[in-house]
Amino acid sequence: MNRREFNSNLLLAVPAAAFAAQQPASSLRVNGRRLNTRLAELAQFGKTPEGGTHRLAYTEADLAAREYSMKLMRDARLDVSIDAAGNIIGRRAGSEPSLKPLVIGSHIDSVPEGGSYDGQVGSMGAIEVAHTLADANTRLRHPLEVIIFQNEEGGTVGSIAIARGLAEKELDLVSNSGKTIREGIRFIGGDPDKLSGAVRRKGDLAAYVELHIEQGGILHAGNIDIGVVEGIVGVYWWEVTIEGFANHAGTTPMNQRRDALLAAAKYIDAVNRIVTSVPGRQVGTVGRIQAFPGAYNIVPGRVLTTLGLRDLDAAKVRALFESIRTETRRIENETGTKFDFKQVNSSPPAPADERIRRIIDRSAKQLGFTTRDLPSGAGHDAQEIANLCPIGMIFVPSRDGISHSPREYSTPEDIANGANVLLHTLLALDQEV
Ligand SMILES: [Zn+2]
Repeated sequence: MNRREFNSNLLLAVPAAAFAAQQPASSLRVNGRRLNTRLAELAQFGKTPEGGTHRLAYTEADLAAREYSMKLMRDARLDVSIDAAGNIIGRRAGSEPSLKPLVIGSHIDSVPEGGSYDGQVGSMGAIEVAHTLADANTRLRHPLEVIIFQNEEGGTVGSIAIARGLAEKELDLVSNSGKTIREGIRFIGGDPDKLSGAVRRKGDLAAYVELHIEQGGILHAGNIDIGVVEGIVGVYWWEVTIEGFANHAGTTPMNQRRDALLAAAKYIDAVNRIVTSVPGRQVGTVGRIQAFPGAYNIVPGRVLTTLGLRDLDAAKVRALFESIRTETRRIENETGTKFDFKQVNSSPPAPADERIRRIIDRSAKQLGFTTRDLPSGAGHDAQEIANLCPIGMIFVPSRDGISHSPREYSTPEDIANGANVLLHTLLALDQEV
């Protein structure tokens, strides 16, 4: 069905009073004041004295914020349900029942002592988009789903439950709230015994688009309105053990030492050197170090440390890791030590869909906004949903690039801009996929 047929069908289906309200989709705008008021209201649940938000998943504050969000969804004329995993889903039928749903959403749980924007801008933004469409009596061809994923900050639990299912042993993990995931799911109205009911299959969804604050400073520093996310970087962690030989610091001559901490120093420098030796936005971090036995008078015999690498391109990460390994072999020879790398985490990159990226960019420019392509260095629910359908993400500026902090802030104008880009991306996807 083309757009003209769609509109005329729609006009037949709506009452006369709504007829007058009908307006061309291109002129639709979200209600920025309503959106920002709701964000401020949402921030009351788990508000901290510093003006931030402490709303861990599976707590009373989380529960109250979820109730509040479900009320807003009903106001936006969405049919609200909680899936077996505890995700909140607001649905509205489309005009073509055979089409798969277009999905928008984010999360409303926070990190401990966090801010009032991370996840919340995207959640309230998605509800506002649904509300704007309802106000204008604009019905999509596709079914619309607004999803508020549960416990994003505790490891994208809700989106994993939808994208690939939660394993039994994951249910026993204790979340920040002190409850296990299993207890938490029950607490927020899910049913941990029926989790298979929450799982969607590849092809069940037409597309997923998430609005989010950048959590970095690129847009704010460059005075750019909208970030078009290229993808969510892959995150790879290794536990690194360096074995040397612990010996008396007074009697062991310098040329006879096998100093694991000295090897670690050379290693830390090498990681930085290798990661910055090639062009690109890859990052590499040694974030933890511990020397044993750890005394003034003993040459360190053993060091526990780490390696973290992130990039959009998994092949690049592999190449960097190989270079680091080659360099550590040199350090082993030089210092008489032995390095051992044990991979403890690998989450592959999730590239955003090319076509959705183009639609986001075009929608933003048509609204008069400046855009910039950028990767997401932080994890998001979109990363999991990428296993099911094409995804896209829209970033709005974070002041000074600060997030996971009470000082997290995005301007009301930037938030409304992001929601308008989400709205027009959704309208374009509805016509094009
Ligand atoms: Zn988030």
